[in-house]
Amino acid sequence: RVAFDVQAVRRDFPILAERVNGKPLVWFDNAATTQKPQAVIDRLAYFYAHENSNIHRAAHELAARATDAYEGARDTVARFLGAKSAQEIVFVRGATEAINLVANTYGRQHIGEGDEIVVSLLEHHANIVPWQQLAAATGAKIRVIPVDDSGQILLEEYAKLLNPRTKLVALTQVSNALGTVTPVREIVALAHGVGARVLVDGAQAVSHFRVNVQALDADFYVFSGHKVFAPTGIGALYGKLELLESLPPWQGGGNMIADVTFEKTTYQGAPARFEAGTGNIADAVGLGAAIDYLERIGFDAAGRYEHDLLRYATHGLQTVPGLRLIGTARDKASVLSFVLAGYRTEEVGAALNREGIAVRSGHHCAQPILRRFGLEATVRPSLAFYNTCEEVDLLVATLHRLARGQRSSLN
Ligand code: PMP
Repeated sequence: RVAFDVQAVRRDFPILAERVNGKPLVWFDNAATTQKPQAVIDRLAYFYAHENSNIHRAAHELAARATDAYEGARDTVARFLGAKSAQEIVFVRGATEAINLVANTYGRQHIGEGDEIVVSLLEHHANIVPWQQLAAATGAKIRVIPVDDSGQILLEEYAKLLNPRTKLVALTQVSNALGTVTPVREIVALAHGVGARVLVDGAQAVSHFRVNVQALDADFYVFSGHKVFAPTGIGALYGKLELLESLPPWQGGGNMIADVTFEKTTYQGAPARFEAGTGNIADAVGLGAAIDYLERIGFDAAGRYEHDLLRYATHGLQTVPGLRLIGTARDKASVLSFVLAGYRTEEVGAALNREGIAVRSGHHCAQPILRRFGLEATVRPSLAFYNTCEEVDLLVATLHRLARGQRSSLN
């Protein structure tokens, strides 16, 4: 095992030295967004200080620098996901925009009345609503894969949903509400057996373990940069090249065309066809820097450390009287979701905030899965590799205090 030096890594993230409410910040809201290492912050500043230009390589020196930086980031994302080529990577605003792009291109081209789109009960609203909008526009139907009491999807029930009308399966790799890691490879193989395409929502996956889109045989894979230590406003859509090349564009404008006349406009190939207008150049470069950072610290060792921390935190929470952990699948990534007897979730969130601990309490944009467990909201601490056992201890101790009924600690 490669040693993982969590204290050294923490020093790379300036915000982890913040104090809130007079206490050291404990950032347990990583599923909502992750913090940024100095290397990413510096890369953004360097871009604006030395490279900033629109990207049209041949025009002048700065355009060449900006283009190289932007396309270099695309190469880095392609390697990060195990794509065959950088042409398979489309820069988008984030997972939400990527899913909407697929719904409005693949969906509009291939999904019609009576066709079926399969999603799971675990999905984030971003992987539900665009399909509902598509279904409303086309007359397609949405079918939902149920989950068991541990929060894992039921593969046999999934297999029963598939039929020749299934055109797309849209599934998260890691549930943002429960942390369940779904069996994506099996899901993809079964979908391909009936000729359906598969979109994998990797928003909660890519920061926790290595992903290889070719090994998964995913047709589309989407993620948001801000959940993998990169800036907000940038993310990526991976699509198999022949599939992307066969799709119509979505948004129209500059950059995505080959030739424009009032009689007929022709389009660029992938990925430019899907990148209308000036993109988020600096933040794409920042995303590349975040991935480089992960490789530098040893992403696999970081993942193992984080997994041990998840186990430690799970055991810790299980010692708290009246705490009900939601999502107990064997395969989990760093999300813990719970309710505490006698307290509303926002009361628990507020009590933790007073100790400097940031967690999310609410429905996590995943109402269907919480309702499967009879809940409207949970408290959700979510971990990253820069968190520590001491931080987990503070969380658990604070919850013990609440559980002992010291409601005065809420004031
Ligand atoms: N899918 C999942 C599983 C998520 O957790 C999120 C973000 N919470 C999204 C999609 C949407 O990501 P974004 O808001 O960055 O587009």
